[in-house]
Amino acid sequence: MSNIAFFGLGNMGASMAKNLVKAGFNTTVFDLVESQVQLLADAGANPSKSVAEAVSNADVVISMLPADKHVESLYFGEEGIVNNISANALFIDCSTIESSAAITIGKRLKQLGHRFIDAPVSGGVAGAAAGTLTFIVGGDKLDFESAEGFLNAMGKNIFHAGDVGAGQVAKICNNMLLAILMAGTSEALQMGIDNGLDPKVMSDIMLQSSGRNWTLELYNPCPDVMENVPSSKGYQGGFMVDLMNKDLGLAMSTAANKQSVVPLGQLAKSMFQIHGNAGNGKLDFSSIFNAYKHD
Ligand code: NAD
Repeated sequence: MSNIAFFGLGNMGASMAKNLVKAGFNTTVFDLVESQVQLLADAGANPSKSVAEAVSNADVVISMLPADKHVESLYFGEEGIVNNISANALFIDCSTIESSAAITIGKRLKQLGHRFIDAPVSGGVAGAAAGTLTFIVGGDKLDFESAEGFLNAMGKNIFHAGDVGAGQVAKICNNMLLAILMAGTSEALQMGIDNGLDPKVMSDIMLQSSGRNWTLELYNPCPDVMENVPSSKGYQGGFMVDLMNKDLGLAMSTAANKQSVVPLGQLAKSMFQIHGNAGNGKLDFSSIFNAYKHD
């Protein structure tokens, strides 16, 4: 029986760790925010007060952190995981980070006798809560197969995209498209509203027409068109503008590395950057809808 150490109990990680507990995995959790650790302890996880305590019995590490620097310092920092864990552990990083950073992390862990896959996710906080996330994995086939049981407890669709780093490339292509779709859907809805249309009626029409897309189906950016989505809750929770900006930055560097042509991605990056800089960084990314409103 594997012992999992789970790090990063934020908007996504808290629900993911809960689903591991529900599936019967022995899961020890750690976050810098103590109340999040307590939340998981209430759900049946083993709480821990330090990285060393969290990995003392672990053979599997799962991390769900904001960005590269957090993953690197958690794994390799002075008080980090590699200084405290037994040999041949399986590291599964579900954070969205730079593909080149994932490759470097994978190499360093391999040199230390560990295994690593990058396994970023798609599906948002609702997917994390429902255990229906899509996992996009980069890594050796055998390591992918070793991880599948854990990923299945947190997700519905598990893809093996290629070698270490490939999961991050596929994820960032997806999120660049998501940013473009969210901005485009907001643009179309507001143009309809400007011309006197009801956004709910507009959404129903576009859902049955060629403009149909994920944001209209599951994450409408216009308040009160859909229940239980961030736009109907003051754009609280969900996927922060700051994180979307991080992902668009990753998309731009991925594009620059191979001279990919991404004019719509660049435009989306500029729009979300202006929106974030205007004080909206902590709001859900569907708040880009507000950028289109006018008198
Ligand atoms: P979040 O900011 O809500 O959570 C991150 C958590 O990591 C926080 O609780 C923080 O305290 C914790 N943390 C930071 N450093 C730590 C450390 N050294 N040790 C332990 N805990 C630490 O972020 P989130 O929305 O859960 O996103 C996490 C990752 O998932 C990001 O890379 C994001 O891009 C990606 N992602 C998010 C969504 C979404 O809808 N929110 C969807 C897909 C992917």
